[in-house]
Amino acid sequence: MIVCEAKLEGTRQQYRQLDAAIRTGRFVRNSIIRAWMDKQVKSRNDAYKYCKVLADNHEFPWAKKLNSMARQAHAERAWASVERFYRNCKASPRAERTPLIKGGRGDRGYPKFAKYKTRASVEYKTSGYKLSECRRYIKFTDGFKAGEFKLWGTRDLHFYQLEQIKRVRVVRRCDGYYAQFLLDINRKEEKDLTGIQRGLDVGLNHFYTDNFGEKIDNPRFLRKDERKLKRFQRRLSRTEKKSKNRVKARNKLGRAHLKVSRRRNDWVCKLAQHVIQSSDLVAIENLQVRNMVKNHKLAKSINDASWRKFREWLEYFGLVYGVPVIAVNPSYTSINCFNCGEPVIKTLSTRTHSCCACNYVADRDENAARNILKTSLKQLSDTVGRTEINNASGENDLCLDVETQPSKPTRRKRKSL
Ligand SMILES: [Zn+2]
Repeated sequence: MIVCEAKLEGTRQQYRQLDAAIRTGRFVRNSIIRAWMDKQVKSRNDAYKYCKVLADNHEFPWAKKLNSMARQAHAERAWASVERFYRNCKASPRAERTPLIKGGRGDRGYPKFAKYKTRASVEYKTSGYKLSECRRYIKFTDGFKAGEFKLWGTRDLHFYQLEQIKRVRVVRRCDGYYAQFLLDINRKEEKDLTGIQRGLDVGLNHFYTDNFGEKIDNPRFLRKDERKLKRFQRRLSRTEKKSKNRVKARNKLGRAHLKVSRRRNDWVCKLAQHVIQSSDLVAIENLQVRNMVKNHKLAKSINDASWRKFREWLEYFGLVYGVPVIAVNPSYTSINCFNCGEPVIKTLSTRTHSCCACNYVADRDENAARNILKTSLKQLSDTVGRTEINNASGENDLCLDVETQPSKPTRRKRKSL
């Protein structure tokens, strides 16, 4: 799947209609969650059927206005959150008994009702809109009659056929309305072998250090714009509640945050592509960012570093270019000596690794990056080796079948169980 995004240009009146469509999408989702809680909806199919019930109900005239396939798309969203809850419960069965404890152990994502948010979206499948032949205009044709919008930034759309558009999502952000086109395409790119295997150790002093000792500086976009953000935040708190000035101030703050996140994403995306293009194998740490953020002294820096996004992009480009991206357990990677494997205890402020057992001296992060690469190669050979052994034993079993009678051992096993 590829997503193309374009900004929608229309009149204020049209935007209000889009708001109504987004609100209705949320209404459909929340109604289905409610029906699930009341045990009226028990499966995905029930959820689809419930869309019809909502549309026929005269108390909710707006439900009928939304395109029928869009209603289904929101039913899918509702059911996805229910399914996620079921999956989490299966993973830890005790949680099912106390599903409503927030943040506690029992919290396994019991479906919540969606609230109003500035960033929200409504999803259309293959009907309810019409894209013009020149791909510069889109017209929404469902009951909300939002009409025709001019699209900004559709150059990418020209490379694809209209049939390849599987979904269209209208996203509201604080700086306007966007249309996202989901295209059914498997992106594959050619890449020459470079002969380089790269282990990456992410950190706060440098964004990452690889096993060749190359360091990339942390851009710290949030820190750069922090003063501006703080000013906007102060201004927002000073405004009166429910006033027009508050709306304006909130919008300004939102835009500033949007800018930070866009710069961050752009930078991380380009870096990830560069890393993938210049190596044949990439090893990274399997970091639990959510747990690390709990350390309040480092939380802002960690969030600002956006390792998670970096990893997502690495994995995406890994698939596109056919480069394996291996995540390894991060424990002991910075402590153990790369040369001899002996643990060398360091604090966060010790920047160089010097081993007393073998006199190996290296930069702390470089040592970690090398360990990560080594572990990943070991992991890789283990999994490859194991599948081969499994195949071999499978063949052996077949041979045994011919020579001996397999019924006896299985019967014995059953008895012992
Ligand atoms: Zn050593």
